[in-house]
Amino acid sequence: MTSKDYYKILGVNEYCTEQELKSAYRKLARKWHPDVAGNTDEVVNKFKEINEAYEVLSNKSKRADYDTVRKYYNYSSKKTDTASKQQSEVNKTATNPNKSDKQQETHKKADEHNSFNFNFKWDEFLSKYKEYANKYENMYTQKNNEKKAKYGNTKKGKDINTDVEVTIAEAVSGTSKIINMLHTSVCPKCGGRKFVNGSICSHCHGKGDISEHKRFTVKIPAGVKDNSKIRLAGEGECGLNGGSNGDLYITVHVKAPVDYKTDGNNILKTITLAPYEAVLGGNISVKTPDGNITVKIAPNTQNGQKIRLSGCGIRVKNKVGDMILTVEIQIPKNLSNLELELYKKLQEVSSQNVR
Ligand SMILES: [Zn+2]
Repeated sequence: MTSKDYYKILGVNEYCTEQELKSAYRKLARKWHPDVAGNTDEVVNKFKEINEAYEVLSNKSKRADYDTVRKYYNYSSKKTDTASKQQSEVNKTATNPNKSDKQQETHKKADEHNSFNFNFKWDEFLSKYKEYANKYENMYTQKNNEKKAKYGNTKKGKDINTDVEVTIAEAVSGTSKIINMLHTSVCPKCGGRKFVNGSICSHCHGKGDISEHKRFTVKIPAGVKDNSKIRLAGEGECGLNGGSNGDLYITVHVKAPVDYKTDGNNILKTITLAPYEAVLGGNISVKTPDGNITVKIAPNTQNGQKIRLSGCGIRVKNKVGDMILTVEIQIPKNLSNLELELYKKLQEVSSQNVR
């Protein structure tokens, strides 16, 4: 089989009129006529090709058949390309290592020449194509029948998973989000066989499945937790032969700043204090949703002690939560000699046993 593009050969687009086709052909036929361009192999072959293209495209029913086949080739050309590339890789490795580069080059040229295939017969091509289409269709049906015999007639559609991100405020108050999905399901007309009675399926154009964009409005409930899943029943891939549809699962990600956790409207945050800050007290700066504020640390603050900052939590409509700080006393690393000296002094004068 060949996949020559007659439209390209004649330099016209696939929607061209009969008149445009005719004038394009006449121009090329004049240019490439062996009497004009010289009686070389290249010219003769080109001239034959132009005539062959015109013979098919100028005949309405042949052109319609050709268009159908050409569309199929366009859809599947990507696959074919990769396949032939792999094939040529295999050929390369299989080549006799004793052959010189020059010989290989000649070989390659001959192959290119053969791919022009000037003994091409349209009717033969079409009947071969139909044969292939029928074979494919039968093979698919047979496979499907085997599956049916094994698993029964109906098949549930696959589930689909997707993600949605919400802010902390949205997670607290609840919200609704629009989700755009590319939905792929088996073509309802050909059932994935790609062909119907030997012709390319007109519904999916021979792809076997249908992709469509779908928009969902998802209601996110108030108080939703990070990583929780929402299920939209029946919004997954379509079932086959009356099987039920799959479901759509949406994972909710609560987009929280890394430095705090939440509990409803409240923000939970850990603050670290140096031992002397905990003992002596002082002022430290704390980041809140409304900006930085100064927090007064009381003298003799203990590890694990909680400090509530009223009204510094998450604001949802008219309600605002608190920020709850948990103190964590941290011993600084790499103490200087002077600091160590002072700790030793502290040890000597200390009158209390914390145990
Ligand atoms: Zn189809």
